[in-house]
Amino acid sequence: MRITACDVYRVAIPLLQPFVIASATQRAYGGVLLRLRTADGLEGWGEAAPSPIVTGETPDAVAARLLRARRRIRSLDPLETERSVAAAFGFLRGSSALAAVDIALHDLKGQYYAAPVHRLLGGFRSEIETCMTISIRDATETLRQAGEIVSRGFRSLKLKLGSDPDRDIARVRLVRSCLGSAVRLRLDANQGYSVAGALRVLRAVHGCDIEFCEQPVPMGDLRALAKVSRGSPVPVMADESVRGPEELLRIIQMRAAAMVNLKLMKAGGLHRARQMVALAESAGMPCQVGCMIETRIGVTAGTHLALACGGVRYADLDGHLHLASDPCQGGVFTSSGLNRLSPGAGLGLAVKAPNARGSRRRR
Ligand SMILES: [Mg+2]
Repeated sequence: MRITACDVYRVAIPLLQPFVIASATQRAYGGVLLRLRTADGLEGWGEAAPSPIVTGETPDAVAARLLRARRRIRSLDPLETERSVAAAFGFLRGSSALAAVDIALHDLKGQYYAAPVHRLLGGFRSEIETCMTISIRDATETLRQAGEIVSRGFRSLKLKLGSDPDRDIARVRLVRSCLGSAVRLRLDANQGYSVAGALRVLRAVHGCDIEFCEQPVPMGDLRALAKVSRGSPVPVMADESVRGPEELLRIIQMRAAAMVNLKLMKAGGLHRARQMVALAESAGMPCQVGCMIETRIGVTAGTHLALACGGVRYADLDGHLHLASDPCQGGVFTSSGLNRLSPGAGLGLAVKAPNARGSRRRR
């Protein structure tokens, strides 16, 4: 299968409301869309949602890198996923740039074989429950948003924490007492605590029926992560500490976390994330498929992975729901807290090429 054109689009999309986590406040999404076209008229889409904190990349750097590499990208064969991703891993330093190429290659491969990507990758289930995230807000606003999300049919909420242990404890207890036991509750501290602070919070909210807490301590300190994991009554999930398979193996060897959050933007796309699911499954470690704030291209690809793999237990695939607009049609749709996919081969989505303001295109 011959790729004849490689187009790169830099996009900027406002969020519906500011997204506040322990380490940053985000008001707009900055990302890069990639379109690959083939000699037989197929069009495959990919996305990079870079984060200086998590993937160590900026949107402008990723766009420049993809533009520089477009001749080599055109030389890849979408039907030879293993070889093509290995080659792209070599010339695209940076995980979200690689994810954009990998996702577009899988979209083309699925269209060629007239099969949805989740069937090519495994075909384990047809829908998965996703949580919806509430970023750091005061207690009143948190309760208002929680009530609104539950009224839309979601049965699983994720609360962002990590800026103030005492306020966090009060907020979690309040949400649990107001929502009752029917709603599942997950926490994410985004590296915001010390070991002592994390243990204090997690012990204090133990009675609140918490499924797990993501990344309580800084990403580079695996010993600290292991200490919290051993001492916490709430299961600890590694997120920022694990980007690719190599880091996951280290977490498994150190027993530094009970669970892991995989993201296509950290792993470098579907191929490497699929390897990570297998690695975690072999170690008896439950996986979540998560996402960044990204358009429906990225979240659709993540949902394909989650539907493909039996080793995926949890999904946090709500990133597109925070955007004020989206260039995609089809792909993932969320109803009553369940992510499903529109019928169709490949990713099963169409994209309106963003030629308007805030984007630029290069062949
Ligand atoms: Mg997280």
